[in-house]
Amino acid sequence: METNQLHHQISILLVNWYETNQRSLPWRKDYSPYSVWISEIMLQQTQVDRVIPYYFRWMQQFPTLESVSIASYDDLLRFWEGLGYYSRVKFIHKTSKIIRNQYGCQFPKNHQKLLELPGIGPYTAGAIMSIAFNQNYPLVDGNIIRILSRIFNIENSVKQRETKNYIWKKAEELILPGKARWLNQALMELGALVCTPKTPRCLECPVQKSCLSFHLGCVEKRPVVPPSKKIVPIQVVVGVLLKDGLFFIQQRPPNGLMADLWEFPGGKINPGEKPEDALIREFREELQFKIHIGNKIATLKHGYTNFSVTLHAYFCQLIPENQFPVLHFASNYRWVKPQDLFHYAFPAANRRLIDILTKLSPISS
Ligand code: SF4
Repeated sequence: METNQLHHQISILLVNWYETNQRSLPWRKDYSPYSVWISEIMLQQTQVDRVIPYYFRWMQQFPTLESVSIASYDDLLRFWEGLGYYSRVKFIHKTSKIIRNQYGCQFPKNHQKLLELPGIGPYTAGAIMSIAFNQNYPLVDGNIIRILSRIFNIENSVKQRETKNYIWKKAEELILPGKARWLNQALMELGALVCTPKTPRCLECPVQKSCLSFHLGCVEKRPVVPPSKKIVPIQVVVGVLLKDGLFFIQQRPPNGLMADLWEFPGGKINPGEKPEDALIREFREELQFKIHIGNKIATLKHGYTNFSVTLHAYFCQLIPENQFPVLHFASNYRWVKPQDLFHYAFPAANRRLIDILTKLSPISS
């Protein structure tokens, strides 16, 4: 069979399969560019089941692009808290303002113009063009890389630029004119339901007959990826500083890991250092605070993509009391009432610590 014919056949099978097998997902109701954009940004690095409640809460609070553009950044962060990769929120905010100011709150129906917007790369631009506007544009994410590596038995590492380009070309060749919305979603759905990373259900697959790696018996070896990086364990200490019933919190810098989130001060424990000594050092280096360490609150373990954190948390006090912070790391600070901690966005391990604090007398009193 000719390549074009083969592509056409695969695409028809996928679209037909999608028609009867698609899940009912909240962002598949109206295909507005706004809902496609928000859902696709949320779905980056995150499972559908986890995204759904976030998506509902977000849409209830920010039903339109305009409502995002006039919301405060801190408000957006609060509704994103727990989804991770917080720079996405900053880009959503910036992009919403640009679309409001330059395009009257309407997404441009133009691939190049979409790519010029902050936080919109080839994948998201392809998603908006194809899923929202049903224009003939491909999209490629981790799921689609896996599926196409298997169908076309791609033997080179998918981390290589040439391989990525090749996969984009294949995704483009699969587009059925006038059917991009369904074809791209069919690929995404196949990756979620059938051609899964582990134990794909090849016997139920609509494109099994055309799948080269299935016929060659090498499905498990596709896609070819370099060995993943080791998870690095990190020991961290934080101090819950109390004064007159208020908690001291600081805001992380606008760039880098967990940008702009709020946190209790602290930092990494050096090899051989005691957590208490590390805490005294961190308060001195980051804030020029002298502290007295009180009771230990908890030890929490939390896993992130590339590292696992063991967090030791202590109550502490300023000694002497009338000190003012000099910010060497944070961009901002606040003394907040216990109940107001819920108005700020925190990293997951800090949020778990707040949950513990709510059960202890100092915060509930
Ligand atoms: S036959 Fe198996 S490996 Fe090939 S696309 Fe279908 S599920 Fe994936």
